[in-house]
Amino acid sequence: MSAKGFDVCVSGSGAVAMSLALALSAEGWHVAWSRAPESSKPQQADVRTYALNARAIALLERLRVWPALKTFASPVYEMAIQGDAGGAMTFSAWQQKVTELTWIVDAAALERLLNDALRFAPRVEVVLPLSEQGVPPVKASLLAICEGKHSGTRAALGVEFSRKEYGHWGVATRLKAARPHNGVARQWFRSPDILALLPFNQPDPEASYGLVWSVPQDRARHLQSLTPEDFAVELNDAIRQSDAAAADLVGELTVEAPIAAWPLALAQADRWTGAGWVLLGDAAHQVHPLAGQGLNLGLADVDTLVEVLREAKLKEPWRQAGDERILSRYVRRRQWPTQAMSGLTDGLLHLFADERVPLKDVRNLGMSLVERLGPVKQWLVGRAFDA
Ligand SMILES: Cc1cc2nc3c(=O)[nH]c(=O)nc-3n(C[C@H](O)[C@H](O)[C@H](O)COP(=O)(O)OP(=O)(O)OC[C@H]3O[C@@H](n4cnc5c(N)ncnc54)[C@H](O)[C@@H]3O)c2cc1C
Repeated sequence: MSAKGFDVCVSGSGAVAMSLALALSAEGWHVAWSRAPESSKPQQADVRTYALNARAIALLERLRVWPALKTFASPVYEMAIQGDAGGAMTFSAWQQKVTELTWIVDAAALERLLNDALRFAPRVEVVLPLSEQGVPPVKASLLAICEGKHSGTRAALGVEFSRKEYGHWGVATRLKAARPHNGVARQWFRSPDILALLPFNQPDPEASYGLVWSVPQDRARHLQSLTPEDFAVELNDAIRQSDAAAADLVGELTVEAPIAAWPLALAQADRWTGAGWVLLGDAAHQVHPLAGQGLNLGLADVDTLVEVLREAKLKEPWRQAGDERILSRYVRRRQWPTQAMSGLTDGLLHLFADERVPLKDVRNLGMSLVERLGPVKQWLVGRAFDA
């Protein structure tokens, strides 16, 4: 701690909080990390696999976490998206002139490695959690709130968090396939559910997937009540009904991990900053995981806040980290990309939620049109893989 106290108090225990504490410490800021007690952590490891984009990977590389995380990650070379009435789109790394479209990483390994790195980070001190009124346990110029969607500190500050529940849950588990995945991610918009298979390297390096299956709440409850064998039967049937050719390419799937589920919502805080505080990650915004962007947005928040603070340190060294002028630059740079992504995922979801035949035909036609329209497809790729 500096003689004047801490520069930043980071509150939160997830990937966004830990990345921010590490990144700030690497830039020379003194950080108090206020994390939840170990005893409050879930007993079961997170079974999710995250699709992380190039910007997120570059940040993790700078934080020196990526080399170890890469052993728990798989590159995606192609993404095949199927509508519910013949519409289809494919994105490939070679078309986009990149080595891979995205990486699929182990959510639990990401959090574990960030936590390990923080144990050796200079200028980071673990401190007690904030009080229920949102008062930090130490003096710091800036309070960075990375407490996720249920942030108590955000509520204590009186920030409105408008939340639209989708009534759908994201069911996740790990799968093994009878055939190699060859780095191909697959997604089916089945109306009302959306099913995604993300190529992964565990337990089988060549033939594993992370599953994200967004289904209405009742169906999620039903799926979670099944044995792994019965769940696999329903999953294999759903894929075969949607796309028999792809089902043959994937091969029979078996369940290799517990089946977990999360409620899905679209949410946005009405203010992201105030005097001496700032919101990042799911504490500021929540999106549907159909485009695999929630954490990517959170890590982009981290990257941008650190960039804004760095610029201010160079050009206006008299300003403190919690200066509202500096924080408003962060909001200006982050609000538009976040709103664009929220609009895109929400729009797609609504487009595919309606069962009426004319709409069904139009959306599938639209999908096939986008496939043929280079610039539109390029824009979508930019939003999804680099934002
Ligand atoms: C099924 C599913 C699949 C997804 N797939 C993807 C994907 O492929 N790609 C992607 O980019 N995103 C994905 N996401 C989104 C991603 O999980 C979230 O966006 C991301 O976890 C948000 O990180 P966070 O650190 O902001 O919040 P969280 O992960 O919620 O972490 C916040 C942590 O802070 C703790 N906390 C709360 N209050 C306090 C306090 N007062 N003090 C200390 N700690 C506190 C919380 O308990 C929690 O542990 C997916 C989400 C779901 C549900």
